[in-house]
Amino acid sequence: MPDSKTYTGGCHCGLVRFECTTDLAMITACNCSICTKKGLHFAFLSPKSFQLRAGEDNLKEYLFNKHAIRHQLCVDCGVDVFARGNKPDGSEVVALNVSCIDGVELAKLSMTPIDGRNR
Ligand SMILES: [Zn+2]
Repeated sequence: MPDSKTYTGGCHCGLVRFECTTDLAMITACNCSICTKKGLHFAFLSPKSFQLRAGEDNLKEYLFNKHAIRHQLCVDCGVDVFARGNKPDGSEVVALNVSCIDGVELAKLSMTPIDGRNR
């Protein structure tokens, strides 16, 4: 398992900023409609490992399908920075768009295929 590290990141225009701690051990490469169209790759964090540092008021919520995942988009640049949801046991989870981590290189991350399209 990779070690947990603290990362900073944010949306494209910079109004939304976060800090998070994660080992990036599981990153989704999901074939569902939104992940495919937006090129989203998520890492799942407990809410206490994710702090929104700026831009709380600059977020717009995007809901679709069963409204189980509440996507948080920057109002200005439109980037889907993270999403809030609940695990099957009801506990809260933050799905972080790893592309929003400062300096991230997607090609160097190992991805886990998820068959979201058929769920
Ligand atoms: Zn933005």
